[in-house]
Amino acid sequence: MNSRIATDIGNIIGDKNIIVPNTDNNDFTIDRRQKRQSFPALIASPDNTADLSKLLTYCYKNKFRVVPQGGNTGLVGGTLAASNEIIISTRRLNKIRAIHKLDYSMIVESGCILADVQAQANRNDRFFPVSLGAEGSCTIGGIISTNAGGINVLRYGNTRQNIHGIEVVLADGTIIHSLNRLGKDNTGYDLKQLFIGAEGTLGIVSAAALKLSPAPLSTVSVLCGFSRIEQSLELLELAQLYSSNQLTSFELISSVAMDNTLKHTPSISRVIPACSWYALCQFSTSSPVIDVSSLAENFLETAADKQLIKDAVLSRSISQENGLWKIREALVTAQRLEGESIKHDIAVPISKVPELVRTVDREVKKIMPSIRPYPFGHLGDGNIHYNFSQPTDMDAITFRAKESAIHNVVYNIVDKLDGTISAEHGIGTDKKALLAQYKSTADLDLMRAIRRVFDPHSQLQVGKLV
Ligand SMILES: Cc1cc2nc3c(=O)[nH]c(=O)nc-3n(C[C@H](O)[C@H](O)[C@H](O)COP(=O)(O)OP(=O)(O)OC[C@H]3O[C@@H](n4cnc5c(N)ncnc54)[C@H](O)[C@@H]3O)c2cc1C
Repeated sequence: MNSRIATDIGNIIGDKNIIVPNTDNNDFTIDRRQKRQSFPALIASPDNTADLSKLLTYCYKNKFRVVPQGGNTGLVGGTLAASNEIIISTRRLNKIRAIHKLDYSMIVESGCILADVQAQANRNDRFFPVSLGAEGSCTIGGIISTNAGGINVLRYGNTRQNIHGIEVVLADGTIIHSLNRLGKDNTGYDLKQLFIGAEGTLGIVSAAALKLSPAPLSTVSVLCGFSRIEQSLELLELAQLYSSNQLTSFELISSVAMDNTLKHTPSISRVIPACSWYALCQFSTSSPVIDVSSLAENFLETAADKQLIKDAVLSRSISQENGLWKIREALVTAQRLEGESIKHDIAVPISKVPELVRTVDREVKKIMPSIRPYPFGHLGDGNIHYNFSQPTDMDAITFRAKESAIHNVVYNIVDKLDGTISAEHGIGTDKKALLAQYKSTADLDLMRAIRRVFDPHSQLQVGKLV
């Protein structure tokens, strides 16, 4: 990009808000998962919505391509930028504008970090339930644009279910003010829904009215071990039944994932004897008259009577509970330490998870008998991170050579089971071809038509999503 354009943009948003890409700001230019490097023309980081609007108007008039970016923690290459593209970072749009306690709502700018927003809600006896491994660095705009899920979806839904309204700036600079904090609003098309999960293809989210929930007063977590994947469904049903609607999470962990995590994480020790499968669940309540420990105890007693579990542990303090969730958090890092991995973020109807697990295991081993399946994930949502680790006796290049054959097998099984090729992380650059393969032509045509309405000159997120 020539220096005149940098000067123009500096005049619009302030020179201090222009970041010239160099080795010190790899944070903005290196892709989280695959370490791919972007070489954008410029990184612009406006600090208010009016400047963001002027910047987009300038880009629109000059037909510059734009890549919106939040915390750059996305996992599908959605923030990669070419040398003729401008990254618009929202990190300086980071103000909490208001808390409306009695409306259970909070107005925040899109560059606010998720963990900071959760903490601010807690300080006001409220709860923003979207919670995921990247919460210390991902932004509100990023979770909205990817409709992020995480560990509390079972009870509270995806990001979509936790948004009252948004403020968004369109490709031509028009600002859509829709920061209402209403639980009901039937005034025609609910336009905000289009931007949630749009991955920056329809506009840049500049602020959001978040829907808050009552803060939990007490929580208890349970780790139980069992033998057969089919038992996970019975356990989930039982946990729902005994939880009195207080079941927040139900996570599945395979023995390979558990053993590997214990091997690579000295600070975590085994809390129950080895089993083939584990479920980690949390019961939580915001009611002072509900005793979640009793609910969890009843659940475990019944599960034991029905011989569904081999062993279990129930947290008796916050530190014990945090200790159990450390296992879940450490799974991904531990897998990395076992060499290369091939990953799938897939979902099927919950009832079909056992069939998914068994069929994928069998069919992928036909391609690579010594591959190490490493499944874990949000069983309560039917969402399994069906990963595979490199065989111990195989080099990385030979392993990677089979990657697309393995993806094909997994995605075809998912499709046959009425599932989805992307449950949480979205499409970005990495799954664009897959989307074209698994969505109907009618769906794709409609998506492209919507995109043209919002971005008539094709300037936002070129080459991504659809
Ligand atoms: C350790 C780890 C754990 C994770 N766990 C989960 C999980 O449990 N569940 C889950 O769903 N995801 C998970 N993710 C992936 C998840 O998509 C992101 O962490 C998060 O949603 C992205 O937020 P971000 O601010 O980093 O967005 P970015 O990575 O910066 O951007 C993501 C996409 O959104 C667009 N975008 C960003 N901000 C805006 C905006 N203001 N307006 C318009 N478009 C925008 C970008 O162009 C890009 O397409 C995880 C990622 C990591 C690294």
